[in-house]
Amino acid sequence: MILLNPGPVNTSPRVREAQLAGEQCHREPEFLAVQEQARGLLRELFAPDHEALLLTGSGTAAVEAAVSSCVPPRGRLMVLVNGVYGRRMADMARAYGIEVVEKRGPWNEPIEPEACDCDFVGTVLHETTTGVLNRVRDIGTPILLDAISAVGGEELPDADVIVGSANKCIQGVPGVSFVLARERHLRHPPRNYYLHLARYREGVPFTPAVPATLALREALLELREETVAGRIDRYRRAAALLRDGFERMGLRFYLKPEVRSNTLTTLHLPTDYELLHERLKAEGFVIYKGLMEGVFRVANMGWIEPRELLRFLKVLEETVCARSC
Ligand SMILES: *Cc1c(COP(=O)(O)O)cnc(C)c1O
Repeated sequence: MILLNPGPVNTSPRVREAQLAGEQCHREPEFLAVQEQARGLLRELFAPDHEALLLTGSGTAAVEAAVSSCVPPRGRLMVLVNGVYGRRMADMARAYGIEVVEKRGPWNEPIEPEACDCDFVGTVLHETTTGVLNRVRDIGTPILLDAISAVGGEELPDADVIVGSANKCIQGVPGVSFVLARERHLRHPPRNYYLHLARYREGVPFTPAVPATLALREALLELREETVAGRIDRYRRAAALLRDGFERMGLRFYLKPEVRSNTLTTLHLPTDYELLHERLKAEGFVIYKGLMEGVFRVANMGWIEPRELLRFLKVLEETVCARSC
């Protein structure tokens, strides 16, 4: 199956195979070296001045770890909300009793930090709800960035705390996620046990997802070879190829061109979603349901050859035209 959903993504044979060495004890030096190498690569590729903390859990666990660990005691968090992931961050903070100030914006427009009397501003770089790329600028307040669908796919702005996961643009497998944080944000007392990031400074203190960690290390080595700039460029070109095709077949876009990310396109449905999904799946492609009425999503993250994207466009066109041309 070619996965055109925003993670988990198709991985290279090399990353898939790396998982198979997963029968090993996580306390032995061989595995500890893998973990250390993965953390080192994350810092090298994305944030050399930050600590890299690896967690077992999906991206949401890492966002929760960042929010609960980095917002100071009695601290106040502004959250920018223009999609479900911003909303989730705000809900998460409230669940810990953190005071949240929500700034809401329309879902089809970028949102950006504004000066506030708060300790942190939480925002989502690539709002995967719609594919809108939000803006980050320095406002003098530390930024907590959900970059889960952006690391490896977009240029990263400077942020004190950056959250990512293995199985989107990094091209690893689900099960591990990470936080890159400046050290001074890791000194607060715990609000929880398992997700308290200070515990992760010397490595994962609990049983990690060993196969997924092995895959992440391999995926990061692969990314270093491709280079982050090369990966971003490949995704940008894949999106352009898809969008040219969508335009040619007369599909309507949810977002205007200048606010779109490199890896996700939201389109108005030309026909019934279930039918479209079923027809494409029969040809080996998985698309993604929209979160708003009347739209669907096509992601281009992962190890996908351009010729597969061209084949996808052909099947899509046949499906769309069978209904309306
Ligand atoms: C995918 C995603 C998440 C959640 O990740 P899970 O791995 O499903 O927990 C959070 N934020 C953004 C922006 C995402 O794209």
